[in-house]
Amino acid sequence: MAISGLEIYKLLPKANCRQCGYSTCLAFALQLAKRETQLDKCPHVSEEAKKILTESSLPPIRLITLSRDKTQLEIGNETVLFRHEEKFHHPAGVGIILEDDLTEDEFIKKVSQINKLRFERIGQILDLNLIALRQKQKDPKIYLDRLDFILENSLLIPILMTEDKTLLSKARDLCKDSQVLVYCADINNYQDMVNLAKEKNFILVVKAGNLDELTTLISKINLEGFEDLILDVGEKPLRNKIWDFTQIRRQSLKKKNRILGYPLLGIVENTHPYQQILEAITLMAKYANIVLLGGTEPWQMLALLTFRQSLYADPQKPLQVESKDYPVGSVTDKSPVLVTTNFSLTFYTVLPEIEASKIPSYLISVDTEGMSVLTSWAAEKFTPEKITETIRKCRIEEKVSHRSLIIPGYVAVMKADLEEKSGWQVIVGPREAAGIPRFLKNLS
Ligand code: SF4
Repeated sequence: MAISGLEIYKLLPKANCRQCGYSTCLAFALQLAKRETQLDKCPHVSEEAKKILTESSLPPIRLITLSRDKTQLEIGNETVLFRHEEKFHHPAGVGIILEDDLTEDEFIKKVSQINKLRFERIGQILDLNLIALRQKQKDPKIYLDRLDFILENSLLIPILMTEDKTLLSKARDLCKDSQVLVYCADINNYQDMVNLAKEKNFILVVKAGNLDELTTLISKINLEGFEDLILDVGEKPLRNKIWDFTQIRRQSLKKKNRILGYPLLGIVENTHPYQQILEAITLMAKYANIVLLGGTEPWQMLALLTFRQSLYADPQKPLQVESKDYPVGSVTDKSPVLVTTNFSLTFYTVLPEIEASKIPSYLISVDTEGMSVLTSWAAEKFTPEKITETIRKCRIEEKVSHRSLIIPGYVAVMKADLEEKSGWQVIVGPREAAGIPRFLKNLS
């Protein structure tokens, strides 16, 4: 839990001896609160203060990492209840549940559908993270065959949903070096599951129907020396689940209750396609770190992944595209060169208009820290110097034989200065992106 500089100061010796490199204990405390220095720089801190400060520096929600090959999913380690207070750091994982009693053909078809659930939106790739295999039939060989098929044909991180310990052990071995998630431990099986989790190295979901039982169960598991947990509050109506999730998150962030400081798993059991996606979005909003559902329709995933993209965007930082040159169409050395800012909404307003013109062009995005054209110009982030630096950095002069640069009409005022700084002839383009197709056609 984050602790303030003043709270840290109260725990320091207040000798102002400067041995830590700071002129006063207060200055040291303030830097410590910002994590700009380490506690061991002060040789005089008492053991008790050390213990308190070390514990307080642990994240309020444990960071859990699932992985497979080069793919990693980090969840947890959030520090705020509301996105506007800071931002959410680790986007929730999204996964599909497959049941092992599907026929072979159905199973193959589902995995193939899942593999296609990938979208591009405002320059970012939106895709799934997890694929869960739930045991519904009794033959362990079928479960292992299905898992083998998933591992051969999908790159997603597996979740093993079976409580058959012999089967689980074999299934875990099939996943080799992956850091997989296993569902689940409850009050009846937790000792066996924890022993297996320690032996086979996996993350464990721990499930209980109410928060008292969940707290007791987590305490028992912690006493066994195991902490790689994700919490599930069991099957119940959505409103009750949201209530439990909110209480758990408040306990860990506001009440400093470490016992409940673990990521949350939200499973959507509803089979109606619209309800599924509404539930998944609601769970993600409050406060599931992993959402699992059965639906594999592209429109469902597009809605859910778009919501995740927005929820985990930094509210203080506009969405940005990489600052570089983007060839639009089959460009040649005669293609026009346009500049704009790296604010995603601006960039993706300009880009389709260039495409609509059917005139292959280069579009250069200048790093304006995500500001739009007029705002960045007013804030001196879209300046002749910045544009000149960007066109040099992308070596556009090696890609085109002319030296003409088209700037947005709103910043026509910088024409002369930009010509002087860059050495390029500057052409003032239209003010609005909608004018680009006509402008480019008239230019050629
Ligand atoms: S070394 Fe410790 S006691 Fe000395 S000024 Fe720094 S914080 Fe204070």
